[in-house]
Amino acid sequence: MSDLTRMTATEIAGLVAGGETSAVEVTRAHLDRIAAVDDRVHAFLHVDSEGALAAARAVDERRAAGEELGPLAGVPVAVKDVLTTKGVPTTVGSKILEGWRPPYDSTIVQRLRDAGTVMLGKTNMDEFAMGSSTEYSAYGPTHNPWDLDRIPGGSGGGSAAALAAYEAPLAIGSDTGGSIRQPGAVTGTVGAKPTYGGTSRYGLVAFSSSLDTPGPCARTVLDAALLHQVIGGHDPRDSTSIPAPVPDVVAAAKLGATGDLTGVKLGVVTEFTGEGAEPGVMAAFRESVDALAKLGAEIVEVSCPHFRYALPAYYLIAPSECSSNLARFDGVRFGLRVGDDGNRSLEEVMSLTREAGFGAEVKRRIMIGTYALSSGYYDAYYGQAQKVRTLITRDFNAAFEQVDALISPTTPFVAFPIGARTSDPYQMYLADLFTIPTNLYGGPGISVPCGLSDGLPVGLQVMAPTMADDRMYRVAAALESVVGTFTPPAL
Ligand code: GLN
Repeated sequence: MSDLTRMTATEIAGLVAGGETSAVEVTRAHLDRIAAVDDRVHAFLHVDSEGALAAARAVDERRAAGEELGPLAGVPVAVKDVLTTKGVPTTVGSKILEGWRPPYDSTIVQRLRDAGTVMLGKTNMDEFAMGSSTEYSAYGPTHNPWDLDRIPGGSGGGSAAALAAYEAPLAIGSDTGGSIRQPGAVTGTVGAKPTYGGTSRYGLVAFSSSLDTPGPCARTVLDAALLHQVIGGHDPRDSTSIPAPVPDVVAAAKLGATGDLTGVKLGVVTEFTGEGAEPGVMAAFRESVDALAKLGAEIVEVSCPHFRYALPAYYLIAPSECSSNLARFDGVRFGLRVGDDGNRSLEEVMSLTREAGFGAEVKRRIMIGTYALSSGYYDAYYGQAQKVRTLITRDFNAAFEQVDALISPTTPFVAFPIGARTSDPYQMYLADLFTIPTNLYGGPGISVPCGLSDGLPVGLQVMAPTMADDRMYRVAAALESVVGTFTPPAL
């Protein structure tokens, strides 16, 4: 059998279902690959070999018993360490949760298990999903398989790197401002942020609750769609979950793969295609726009004038929500506790725990958020940012009256060298310049590889109206049908 780790999820599932390989064999191949390369990539914070092999055996037994298997049964998946996993460490990339083993599974993980996928382990991330490079992980950075001296994006860099390094064919991420799409773009993989509320946040450690959206990561658009279908849909345990079926993203990806975009109208976002992106990124993007036009899409320019205020609005709203959400890490309920020697007050213990447990970026955000929400400044900062959020939503609504979907580069720049942007938070924040508007609006967005710049991957972003996730899969799959998938130089 040729190398199982090089196959798509669709291919693996087919082989398992047909009895040509076993889920155990597939799982072993991926665990071996992790053992061979992850000391260099550091995509994983925790590898659950035993749990994975047990899950794989269960799939093989069900198949032997003649049970019908789901479309992804036996396929390994890597899960971002932001989702709770029963009995399996969940750190969110933070020291404050070091050693914590949650007593329950998040809905996403539960659905992955029910579908017969095999969870390999938990992937590295910027602490509390705040960052764009994984350099803010308390456990050291992940390295981009395309160039180990460069960042794999963030916050979900571990999930994206695991795909690009062939350590897993599928992965889960979470996207608050771009943390699925930007790592996808800079590692040459596919990352989709579903409509907000289209995937459950139950068991997703909260960063910014009105923005956080778990979603699928894969090496092909169809694989991402299959994973989206498995994890998506209404969850009564999440009050913001949308009580509607998942749009048929799998059918849309298959339709797109036929390479016909006749009748589809795409809007190139004017504000994201002028200055602000590297020339190599723009060149790859422009070529892809020509390719989409050749497939029959009608291309127009669409102006979204308020998108330029998205970044500052996000950096008030996200820290504000985080300052409230992270109050629960107090040294009493979960994980780390510092200074509890019997002589200190509760408040001192909380303060020592938070001082030791949170990293610099998390503290920066808590302070900004606390300030923005304080009574004297609420209207000037948080209130103002919410108004901008409304204006951005109006831009999207106006745009979608003219076009079916919007397109832009996913990120302004390709993977940068490790260490290049850590001294200036603003430089790090710029990585999400093009992805943040979608989060503020709540619609879906996908990043699909569209070319290379100086030998490094570039992503194209497709943004669709809320609950029209299928549209973005169609366009992304159509592009993939002409540009193909991308393989990094050998590790
Ligand atoms: N990079 C952005 C931030 O630091 C987005 C993070 C995310 O999507 N989780 O907040």
